[in-house]
Amino acid sequence: MKIAVIGTGYVGLVSGVCFAELKHEVICVDKELSKISKLQDGEIPIYEPGLQELVLRNAAEGRLSFTSDLAAAVRQSELVILAVGTPSLPSGEANLAYIEQAAREVAQAMDGRKIIMTKSTVPVGTNHMLKQVIAELTDQPFDIVSVPEFLREGTAVKDTFNPDRIVIGSDDPAAVQAVIELHRQLTENIIVTDLRSAEMIKYASNAFLATKISFINEIANICEKVGADVSQVAAGIGYDHRIGHAFLRAGIGYGGSCFPKDTQALIQIAGNVDYEFKLLKSVVDVNHQQRFSMIHKLEEIFGDLKGLTVAIWGLAFKPNTDDVRDAPAIDIIRELVLRGAAVKACDPIAMDNFRKVMDSEAITWCEDGLEAACDADAICLLTEWQEYCRYQLKHLRRVMKHPVLIDGRNMYNQEQLQDSGFIYRSIGRPSMN
Ligand code: NAD
Repeated sequence: MKIAVIGTGYVGLVSGVCFAELKHEVICVDKELSKISKLQDGEIPIYEPGLQELVLRNAAEGRLSFTSDLAAAVRQSELVILAVGTPSLPSGEANLAYIEQAAREVAQAMDGRKIIMTKSTVPVGTNHMLKQVIAELTDQPFDIVSVPEFLREGTAVKDTFNPDRIVIGSDDPAAVQAVIELHRQLTENIIVTDLRSAEMIKYASNAFLATKISFINEIANICEKVGADVSQVAAGIGYDHRIGHAFLRAGIGYGGSCFPKDTQALIQIAGNVDYEFKLLKSVVDVNHQQRFSMIHKLEEIFGDLKGLTVAIWGLAFKPNTDDVRDAPAIDIIRELVLRGAAVKACDPIAMDNFRKVMDSEAITWCEDGLEAACDADAICLLTEWQEYCRYQLKHLRRVMKHPVLIDGRNMYNQEQLQDSGFIYRSIGRPSMN
């Protein structure tokens, strides 16, 4: 199939390269010229394991190309994938300006029948709205299909080639069949729905996963008070197959470009039809508060944080990504600086992106965890990069002012801490020293 992908971000680029790998002819489009010129030069504008090799190979073999000329890409394609951003508005509602604009541009370029496949996460009713927008601008025939994306940053390539399921929402049987064919090699779990249900499936999935995270974090907070260990509790409940082990890792909560915005958007979607989604509102609130548990733990040890130097290990919202959108590190560092602490921050991949959203004289940017820990009063571990649990605590202790480790991701285990001399706090597990 000849495919145009509009929006060459985390979703668009990974989907584009996946379809190219499946031997389709793919043109990725973006309005950001610097992104396109980098890609044309073989440079990958985002960090995602395994992506670079696939992009380079498929481009070299002539199945994958990049352009900022949306109209030309649309004219050459039978299938147009919309994968532009749908960020939050200040109200929490999804901002549909980018996808509406992309749909208009596609409509104006159409010169024959197209299948338009929406991968962006959009509120219920958006695909019907886009259908109308396009129909007003063109007489050409087209079908709209909603195929929400479930990839996770950090494992996006793996997820795209091994999806748990593909959801195809459409009113048109012929378009559904074409989109089923496109995905047949990836999974047998293909669920065909109407447009509105497909849109809702995406929000309901993310809301449910966010709920699991906030649930285990509240259990963790109670565990701390009653002297239980949340990792044992999570293991014990996870073996119940009705519950499962996934997303039961206590920590400082979720962040990133999806869960925070999609939970807010679903609260708004419900609110627009006069339904108060009380459970989800609490999930969001718990998640926000959980970030500040790092600050409270530091205060319990030091009292006033003014004048302290705090090493921050990890800025990305999760490991194996350079994405810092709504990362807990943003709120935590802001709070530390507000309270008069100096921050020494590091991240293996996400430092450049983080500096674009937050810079301050109170922050020193460090090469690695060891440099950040030098002369620090405490380490706050915020992202579970594997390299952060490889440090010898005895060695770290020698370079720090105070041997304090606040482990926001429960990475360290008891054996590593034994005889280390560290004051150790984690989330929902017993304190040490
Ligand atoms: P992103 O911000 O990384 O990429 C979006 C790209 O679209 C940008 O490069 C932007 O320049 C481009 N763009 C915007 N308008 C355009 C236009 N008119 N023409 C051409 N290009 C245009 O976004 P993302 O993280 O890839 O997310 C895309 C969508 O997928 C969102 O709706 C998001 O909620 C959803 N989603 C994201 C993830 C994820 O993990 N990132 C997972 C599942 C679903």
